Amino acid sequence: MRVLTLGFCAFCLWGCGSKGADSQVVLDKSKEVFNWKMVTTWPKNFPGLGTAPEDFADMVKQMSGGRLTIKVFGAGQLLPPFEVFDAVSQGTAEMGHGAAYYWAGKARGAEFFATVPFGLNAQEMSSWIHHGGGLELWREMYEPFGLIPFAAGNTGVQMAGWYNREINSIADIVGLKIRIPGLGGDVLSRAGALVEKMPAGEIYTAMQTGVIDATEWVGPYNDLALGLHQVAEYYYYPGWHEPGVAAELLVNAEVFNRLPQDLQAIVTVAARAINQNMLDEYTAKNNHALEELIKTHGVKVRRLPEPVLLELRNISNEVINEQADQTDLTRRVAASLEKFKSEVIAYHSISEEAFYKARRIK
Ligand code: CA
Repeated sequence: MRVLTLGFCAFCLWGCGSKGADSQVVLDKSKEVFNWKMVTTWPKNFPGLGTAPEDFADMVKQMSGGRLTIKVFGAGQLLPPFEVFDAVSQGTAEMGHGAAYYWAGKARGAEFFATVPFGLNAQEMSSWIHHGGGLELWREMYEPFGLIPFAAGNTGVQMAGWYNREINSIADIVGLKIRIPGLGGDVLSRAGALVEKMPAGEIYTAMQTGVIDATEWVGPYNDLALGLHQVAEYYYYPGWHEPGVAAELLVNAEVFNRLPQDLQAIVTVAARAINQNMLDEYTAKNNHALEELIKTHGVKVRRLPEPVLLELRNISNEVINEQADQTDLTRRVAASLEKFKSEVIAYHSISEEAFYKARRIK
């Protein structure tokens, strides 16, 4: 019976093409080998952010039996980090890995798909993207650029950053030269800081030479790897500006659409796999790195005072509303995000949050 069924399906495949020649193309496509390039905004093999694209390429190669191979380039190897979006859009590289807030100057409102100050955490962000309408809006935004975005990793809640001065009030932000991307940067700029938006590879030297006197990067795992404890005294939390940054995989739409369906499915599933795995890795590695920063390197960990956080939250709301009010699409994106946020806050206040508190009752 099974043989008969398979035989019938094979007949369908042949029969569905109007001519024999078309069917031959369909069969040959299953043997076609694709060799792609992926450019990234991260230093080559940087822990988590840079190793996730390598893991993705390995997974795709294995799952496709070598029919789709992807060579991953770190920042600066093939082109500068902030040229990833244009390079994939133009087809110079078939794929890219980075974060959507780097492209806010190109696709208006893109930063909403990376992270929003005082917005969603990693779990909530992935949930909004995959089950709350986020992905459809993200694809709509990148469609004019010939790009298909996928969520491809998350760092979890970040740290507020490294400072060489203490922050006791909002006035201490005034005149601060700080590296911070995205909407968080816009918020600090409005609070009086002088904001720089530089890629990872330039941060250490900029801190060391005094070009900037504060920086955020990610969290203990990545900040230790970058050596930021060597160039700053205070390590502030919580990362109000980046509560759950979604990393992004970009694929040139034209080349993606030329892939056979099974390879498209492999790309989709591998993206979903690194999306979760990156968060798992950060959760496990941040714990150890924080301990090392404190015990081995004597880092002074400080909490931002509540009045400062409240002031930053108020400014964030202004900035988000202004960013939202740009185009029909940015208004729809912000409305979708806001609706999801208010719903998830209501539920998480009696689930995740209540549980965290319960776990610490003494
Ligand atoms: Ca960051």
